[in-house]
Amino acid sequence: FLKGKSAIITGSTSGIGLAYAKAFAAEGASVMINGFGDAAAIEQERAALAATSGATALYDPADMTKPEQIAALARRCHDELGGPDIIVNNAGIQHVAPIEDFPADTFEAIIKINLTSAWYLMKAAVPFMKAAGWGRIISTASAHSLVASPNKSAYVMAKHGIVGLTKTIALETATDGITVNCISPGYVWTPLVEGQIPDTMKARGLTRDQVINDVLLAAQPTKEFVTQEQVAALAVFLCGDAAKSITGANLSMDGGWTAA
Ligand code: NAD
Repeated sequence: FLKGKSAIITGSTSGIGLAYAKAFAAEGASVMINGFGDAAAIEQERAALAATSGATALYDPADMTKPEQIAALARRCHDELGGPDIIVNNAGIQHVAPIEDFPADTFEAIIKINLTSAWYLMKAAVPFMKAAGWGRIISTASAHSLVASPNKSAYVMAKHGIVGLTKTIALETATDGITVNCISPGYVWTPLVEGQIPDTMKARGLTRDQVINDVLLAAQPTKEFVTQEQVAALAVFLCGDAAKSITGANLSMDGGWTAA
């Protein structure tokens, strides 16, 4: 049902971002993927997305720490794919350290990539969406947009911030056919998470199940990972007519984490 629409997904060369791109392409949207990684692997994903959607798939290497590259990303989408009709602010990095040991340049990078980039992409995309009378803005926040964990000051600050940005732009665009929402996953099963399990088993002398339940999923009552596909399916739902009254919302998908 997204045939004729274009979507920019930041940080979509892996993980949740790539799952969004696949889900939008499966609905027929043109997609512009973004992020870092191995050039050949990215080209393979791009070609697969184009084949799935029957529409165009482009890759743009815009660095989310660079406002002018973010504006150029939106402009390129407009020129080459139309729109942008859908933007997903998803690029993100993490660093875990107590504040006194937290490197200032890492703090600045997390705020730029996980939060400030969303402001710049919204600023660039909203005029096109207003002109079209339709738009969908989705940001991947996190359970950490609602609750904190120690040693994640920059990440928790950025994720709380993106909820405020979402509410504000939702109000500014409420009569323009545009909705602005966050999805807040708990622990999502990504290759990144999977890769940590063997090392943690070795380092702590635990079984695979103990690592999953007592270390990774300690905060998640369902004791199950959220899947990338579940997150992407919610984003697709937010693009449909049934979701047109959902705006300014922060939708949790966290296995009960923030209910506790
Ligand atoms: P990931 O590491 O698999 O993907 C991150 C993406 O961001 C990659 O494509 C990477 O290349 C890109 N990226 C990093 N720096 C960039 C920059 N400067 N410019 C452009 N792209 C850049 O991680 P993921 O788990 O898929 O996370 C995606 C989003 O979901 C993040 O915002 C993260 O905070 C959020 N999230 C993840 C989880 C989880 O458990 N995995 C839970 C809640 C929220």
